Amino acid sequence: MATGTPSAGVDPLAWLDEQAVARRAAGLRRRLRPRTAGDALLDLAGNDYLGLTRHPAVVRGAVDAAREWGAGATGSRLVTGSTTLHADLEAALAAQLNTEAALVFSSGYLANLGAVTVLAGRGDLIVSDAYNHASIIDACRLSGARVAVVPHRDVAAVSAALAQRAEARALVITDAVFSVDGDLAPLGALHETSRRHGAVLLIDEAHSLGVVGPAGRGAAVAAGVAGEPDIVLTATLSKSLGSQGGALLASRRVVEHAVDAGRPFIFDTGLAPPCAGAALAALRLLVEDPRLATDVVRAAHALAATVRAAGLRASEPDAAVVGVPLASPEVAVAAAETCAEHGVRVGCFRPPSVPDGISRLRLTAHAGLPSDALRRLGAALREVSGQPPPVRLA
Ligand code: PMP
Repeated sequence: MATGTPSAGVDPLAWLDEQAVARRAAGLRRRLRPRTAGDALLDLAGNDYLGLTRHPAVVRGAVDAAREWGAGATGSRLVTGSTTLHADLEAALAAQLNTEAALVFSSGYLANLGAVTVLAGRGDLIVSDAYNHASIIDACRLSGARVAVVPHRDVAAVSAALAQRAEARALVITDAVFSVDGDLAPLGALHETSRRHGAVLLIDEAHSLGVVGPAGRGAAVAAGVAGEPDIVLTATLSKSLGSQGGALLASRRVVEHAVDAGRPFIFDTGLAPPCAGAALAALRLLVEDPRLATDVVRAAHALAATVRAAGLRASEPDAAVVGVPLASPEVAVAAAETCAEHGVRVGCFRPPSVPDGISRLRLTAHAGLPSDALRRLGAALREVSGQPPPVRLA
């Protein structure tokens, strides 16, 4: 046996235990906590921004699709997994986000992998905001392109990276609304810079579809850049649309290229019909009642004000997400537990899910929060900050 070869009988996965011990010591162990049906917690952690996942019309959309098409898509989109329901959903998404065409994927994560890898590869440059979502980071790695990570929302840095490049082709990528603090990317300036340097701009509308822009049509529509030939959008169906799945939205030629060349599209089973049916029903609700989108942004501002009144810091929300930075992963976990004891479910983000290494609570607003939501959140957060309850004047 060669020196250094592990001997028979040694546990080849012992390193997993060592890593688990190290993560526990750093406050970074993660635990799955299955939700029970009908629990009474106030949900400020989920991404169901418009409260549509249980809307009767959305549930009916899923049920009708399951009855008509079955529970699964039966194959990849190019074999048996494309139904007329998928085509209807793609047409509705393209109309809502003002693009020529759309292509539905089985998740937003895969939509990003697909979009990035068909637009950039070896020999190209990708310029990516430091706060972009993990699916974009993974997509950049998978593409094989050179990746320049630029400081958060820094248009001058994007411009410099593009100007200094040796590569002919370049792709600039940004979340429209960043997932941790809910702030908006400077899309107009990014588009202007990208175009000046001959680059394509890819915008991830995961947290802006249904929330930002007129009737929740997204940040690209709001910035007046949707439908431009050098703009490509991705979106998820699993947040404001209350379903599951993702989409690439762009000109017809980009979508046709993704059908031909997008491995995350080609080699994946098509989106399950109940998810497509639910997303389509949710989109129709949004078109019928554009106020849903404004309600959620108003609710986010009310959440941020409640956090500050309780003596903690809160990000300035441009959409549904409010970040509450805390001192350490342990403090963040303890704060989330205190909230749960008060019947309030909040998100708890720790490294590696936070780009700046700062652990925080992540609150998400929903259209139609119950009337006592702010009072319950305020009570929980005052216990977190140690601030006494406000004095009630008679
Ligand atoms: N992009 C962003 C910005 C996200 O926050 C997420 C989900 N957290 C995704 C993409 C992935 O979408 P999905 O959950 O549908 O895979």
